[in-house]
Amino acid sequence: MDRSSDLLPIIGRFAPSPTGALHTGSLATAVGSWLMAKSAGGHWLLRIDDLDTPRQVPGMVDDILATLESFGLTWDGEIAWQSRNGDAYREAFEALAEEGAIYPCCCSRREIALAASAPHPEDDAIPYPGTCRQGMREGGVIRSWRTRVPDEQLCFDDLRKGRVCQNLFRSYGDLALRRADGVFTYQLAVVVDDFLTGVTQVVRGDDLLPSTLRQIHLQQMLNYPRPQYCHLPLVTGPGGAKLSKRDNLVSHRLGSFRGRDGALLMAVLRFLGQDPPKGLAGAGCGEILQWGVENFGAQRIPEAGGELVLQ
Ligand code: GLU
Repeated sequence: MDRSSDLLPIIGRFAPSPTGALHTGSLATAVGSWLMAKSAGGHWLLRIDDLDTPRQVPGMVDDILATLESFGLTWDGEIAWQSRNGDAYREAFEALAEEGAIYPCCCSRREIALAASAPHPEDDAIPYPGTCRQGMREGGVIRSWRTRVPDEQLCFDDLRKGRVCQNLFRSYGDLALRRADGVFTYQLAVVVDDFLTGVTQVVRGDDLLPSTLRQIHLQQMLNYPRPQYCHLPLVTGPGGAKLSKRDNLVSHRLGSFRGRDGALLMAVLRFLGQDPPKGLAGAGCGEILQWGVENFGAQRIPEAGGELVLQ
């Protein structure tokens, strides 16, 4: 059952990982999620996804906050930090373990690759075939804890893409929720965080679409309500190249867009299929965002991504 409801107050969020400065793609996600929440009279929360400590770059949290503020993308309430939420992840993990939904797994990536019968079509992952479901081989050392996923189609309705369906078992396999070193995985952390902060609307890039049904499955297991989802088209580099954390930086410390915030915001609005009046060119970020709050229409967000065009 899709429990997302138009009657819920809209609580959106932006959840950058501090592994690099924001680029034009992250800015488009921030602006899209901000406008979708604010144009519905809702709140917009900020969470720092700092679970994966080795990949974090010092100074990036401050840089991300300063960049968001410089564009006028203010957030509501306190910032949430994944690194401070370990107890909540543990509780959710233990609740699933108590229901018998979790099992230890000793398979390495290499073993999983060898066990796979065919290369995997979706998001290049090799589906985990459930080798340790009935118990680990003798002498096996725990590498992760997993939860079973059903061998059936799961679906949700994306606000932009419409109905999206996937068989999690065939495309991905049983989900790892915790690594042997004790670290909880992104999928569990995001589901618990969105629930605890009352998020009702998740707006993020198309690159995270493969995660969504995994997260919906965990929400169902944990009896959490399902937020609305809207996956935005991706900003690319020239020729459709994927942007990396080094490209198109909008960071005020490092970026090449310094002083062009208004022009960049206008470009993001056009990228998101909105049609800001030409008269707004040269306006400040506050005025441009206000136009967005009054005029944003999710139904106009285009199917295809592409380069962000500054005028
Ligand atoms: N922290 C993730 C990222 O920066 C986004 C998580 C999410 O939006 O669910 O890619």
